[in-house]
Amino acid sequence: MKIALVGNPNSGKTTLFNDLTGSKQFVGNWPGVTVEKKEGQIKNYKDVTIVDLPGIYSLSPYTLEEVISREYLINEKPDLIINIIDGSNMERNLYLTTQVLELGIPTVVACNMMDVVEKNQISIDLNGLSKELGVKILPISASKVEGIDLLIEEVVKENNKPSKELDVYSKDVLDSITKIENIISKETNEFLRFKAIKLFEKDEKIMVGFDKKEILKLVDNFEEKFDDDTESVITTQRYEFITNTLKKYIKKNSKQILHTSDKIDRVVTNRFLALPIFILVMGIVYYVSVTTIGEFVTDWTNEVLFGEIIPPLVTTFLENINASPVLISLIVDGIIAGVGAVLGFVPQMLVLFTFLAILEDCGYMARIAFIMDRIFRKFGLSGKSFIPMMIGTGCSVPAIMASRTIENERDRRMTITTTSFMPCGAKLPVIALIAGALFNNSGWVSNSAYFVGIFSIIASGIILKKTKRFSGDPAPFVMELPAYHLPNIKNVFRSVYERGSSFIKRAGTVILLATIIIWFLSNFGFTEGSFGMVEDLNTSILAALGNIFAPLFAPLGWGQWKATVATVAGLVAKEAVVGTLGVLYGMAEVSEEGVEIWSQLALDFTALSAYSFLLFNLLCAPCFATMGAIKREMNNTGWTIFAISYQTIFAYTISLIFYQIGLFVTTGAFGFWTIVAIALILIYLYLLFRPEPSKKYKTNVNYN
Ligand code: GDP
Ligand code: MG
Repeated sequence: MKIALVGNPNSGKTTLFNDLTGSKQFVGNWPGVTVEKKEGQIKNYKDVTIVDLPGIYSLSPYTLEEVISREYLINEKPDLIINIIDGSNMERNLYLTTQVLELGIPTVVACNMMDVVEKNQISIDLNGLSKELGVKILPISASKVEGIDLLIEEVVKENNKPSKELDVYSKDVLDSITKIENIISKETNEFLRFKAIKLFEKDEKIMVGFDKKEILKLVDNFEEKFDDDTESVITTQRYEFITNTLKKYIKKNSKQILHTSDKIDRVVTNRFLALPIFILVMGIVYYVSVTTIGEFVTDWTNEVLFGEIIPPLVTTFLENINASPVLISLIVDGIIAGVGAVLGFVPQMLVLFTFLAILEDCGYMARIAFIMDRIFRKFGLSGKSFIPMMIGTGCSVPAIMASRTIENERDRRMTITTTSFMPCGAKLPVIALIAGALFNNSGWVSNSAYFVGIFSIIASGIILKKTKRFSGDPAPFVMELPAYHLPNIKNVFRSVYERGSSFIKRAGTVILLATIIIWFLSNFGFTEGSFGMVEDLNTSILAALGNIFAPLFAPLGWGQWKATVATVAGLVAKEAVVGTLGVLYGMAEVSEEGVEIWSQLALDFTALSAYSFLLFNLLCAPCFATMGAIKREMNNTGWTIFAISYQTIFAYTISLIFYQIGLFVTTGAFGFWTIVAIALILIYLYLLFRPEPSKKYKTNVNYN
């Protein structure tokens, strides 16, 4: 038996899904898109699977979530639909219900948030409503796990029937719908009523395969006769039906009580206080999770656990069992060092995830998005992009994973593409190295790095927003401001667990492979004509490759193989740039900021070329862990390649412009690459300021 869970965003779908399935669930993605798909088995009923469909307000074809849900319902034909509605917000939630019932699939309605309904002294006659709609309605409270057992009992019954026809439409509308039903019944006998209504609304996606001309003629006649758009006729009549029905069954306390939630919002979303409060909250989260607890646990895992404890233990063990030196080097220097560097971020990420999950669950995150949305929309990002940007100053991996909370797919892809421009924690040693070696350790270098990150995100947003890739049907953007409530520990724990475990799984795959490759390239090479393990990094394959690719970076001012190799090493982990340069300049080991090689570095670089090197390393393709996160979240190879290429091309061109123009201004040198730089500036100016080809998004905010 297959059950689909359908409901508005924030109606408690995920909470109910977790109640119904317990821990038995499978999380994946809908094919080819970034929308998450959750499947599970109902507790104690192994042969009953349930799918959590994306949250939607309607079965229209406008948003990706709507299309996915619709196609699932029509193509997979679940045996039963559980339609979850927010009992404290019936007017809006029943809009979807009226459409779901038209599908003719047996449906059970779960009326959620009954605790809120009670608290607000709303009385709902669920029996009466159930009779009028011809569908079972069961009261539940998903977060308090109340009414769940009764609901399960009801849904696993074999004898659930589709509801009767609702009395929603006027006679003229019904006539047209019946006519359309007759036309399409020649081709199909599935979902006749649903499809006929959608066709009446001129739904292009349903049109395929039917006699389009005849249907459109009918619709045109109707629109002319009543001088109204059929889609809005249907919408209006649905709402009228809902309002009239609810009048009979809902009694609200006449006293207008100002809920705690509204009181908090008066302060938190206040025109003047909103931003300062937000900055304060995020500042605290950031301070605690990245600099104090986060730094402590990360340093401990990196330096003690993966530095002092595990490597000697493993080395001793391997030596005792007489493993070959190659194997020991692979495991200790390659795998433990590489994977350990990545796993070192896990504790810090877990702390951060916990804070974010709390902010998310208690309802504050929605406010942040609301506050930031106006500003961010101007350059093609969603208000919710701000959260990934914040997290990105710690580590891009959780930042990119946090982009999941952005509903609109285009905004989400844009955020995934641009977030790693923020200087993450691992880039700080690189910044410190360059600042120390060439700029007298001056503070503006690191400040400028954050500025460069923000500038790159904004500029990319403006540029990309105008490209075809990010255009398309403008999707209405609806934002929810759910009522504040204490965070639910189970929700928080689950969210932290899901994000954390998917990261750890990746460390075992993509990152493992990448570290093995880099280990191989830097430990093997030709010496005296024979191929084998090399002691000296200078004779490794990596060095040879560095020499081949170094000329590529000459226009950026640093076409030396050492800098090139360090950049490549940065793909494993950005802080590896410093360590690699240390090794290449002949140090056995350097401190985090590489103080030992400052003087040598100053000989090989000028101020200009060093800053250009820094720019490139800040903006180019991120580390493998982040690339893995991009791949996972984009869920599409084409988009992943696009994002990484875009970042690298952006980094290259910006560094080139910086170096060549800088060179011209300081020394007057003018040549081929100066012309290229000027051409690039013109191209960027064009991309930034050309008129926008596509329409703007609409922003609607719904309070509840
Ligand atoms: P979804 O967007 O439909 O998946 O909704 P979620 O399951 O994420 O729930 C949205 C918010 O409503 C969460 O903060 C839940 O803790 C909260 N919530 C869910 N069910 C109930 C309920 O029965 N009562 C109350 N008071 N809150 C609930
Ligand atoms: Mg959900």
